[in-house]
Amino acid sequence: MNLTGNRSREWPALTSAQELDCDGRNPRTDDPCLLGYHQGPHRDEAGVEWLDDGDIARPDWLNR
Ligand SMILES: [Zn+2]
Repeated sequence: MNLTGNRSREWPALTSAQELDCDGRNPRTDDPCLLGYHQGPHRDEAGVEWLDDGDIARPDWLNR
């Protein structure tokens, strides 16, 4: 009887966290953030991480 050999048949798809794209952009290179919806520092394709400068919660229309 084999109880341990066949566990990798189907893993559930873990896609929910990636459904919303992060619109963060590296302030130095303008590369987009690749992490999808997340909290904390952004990260681009090169592995560079950066933080928003504090206005992430402010919608565009407030700047008018
Ligand atoms: Zn991000």
